[in-house]
Amino acid sequence: MRGFKLVQLKQTAWAALVLLVAAPASAQANLAEVEVKATQVAGNVYMLTGMGGNIGVYVGDDGVVMIDAQYQGLADKITAAIAAVTEQPIKTLVNTHFHGDHTDGNAPFARNGVMVVAHENVKTRLAANDKFDRDGLPKVTFSDGLEVKAGSQSVRLQHYPNGHTDGDVVVWFPQANVIHAGDLFFVDRFPFIDLNAGGNVQGFIDNVRAVIAELDTQTQIIPGHGPLSKRVDWLRLVHMIEATREEVLTLKQQGMSVEQVIEHGLSEQWQAWSWSFINEERWIRTLYQ
Ligand SMILES: [Zn+2]
Repeated sequence: MRGFKLVQLKQTAWAALVLLVAAPASAQANLAEVEVKATQVAGNVYMLTGMGGNIGVYVGDDGVVMIDAQYQGLADKITAAIAAVTEQPIKTLVNTHFHGDHTDGNAPFARNGVMVVAHENVKTRLAANDKFDRDGLPKVTFSDGLEVKAGSQSVRLQHYPNGHTDGDVVVWFPQANVIHAGDLFFVDRFPFIDLNAGGNVQGFIDNVRAVIAELDTQTQIIPGHGPLSKRVDWLRLVHMIEATREEVLTLKQQGMSVEQVIEHGLSEQWQAWSWSFINEERWIRTLYQ
């Protein structure tokens, strides 16, 4: 894959995602070198980084709710990172959507008695994938929203249809003023919008705007990919999508084919948003459809 050489030039977390898409075998070997780090976000909410989607951790009175699970080969390191911040057992694992960099790690946790929870479309898509470890299939599913009890409080899950995929869930942590946005948020990068799995550009914009309307300027957002962020950072993504879509639509209306638009390119200011997995060409193809 073309992006492979670029990998060396990019930040580790982003490069890792591409590596796994491009070369699963070498990436598996790579997992041995991945360090899983926990950062306290606020109160009893933590963010874990390793390889793949950011993990959210909520420490309740009687157990831990974790959000997303990265890769199977990282399960021991993820477990150790959580054990370093609390003695509470991990009870529930929520998937923000079905992509492998968020769900591949489900199975080892499920085998340890952790309850996997996801939107019903996530279960359907995982079940249809022969390569997905059956032990990691969600045991509890929902269609619109769900409250997950965590001792005296609960974590709120809300489904947003047809954005990044058709099974996106945003997770709201009580009292901490923190949310986990899943892959509705790629920080300062062209987002992956999975048009083959119910993703939709307008839906993505609408869903992000709907979530943002419920946040204040201090709300901390754990993004699917990238560093801990705030509302203003997420708005920057929405503005980029709207502006680049406008550029592509204008060229399309002038009669340009998708190949011609790629040849023409986006304006200079969007160059920095390009990365190895979703480069400018792939982003234009997403917008052109
Ligand atoms: Zn994703």
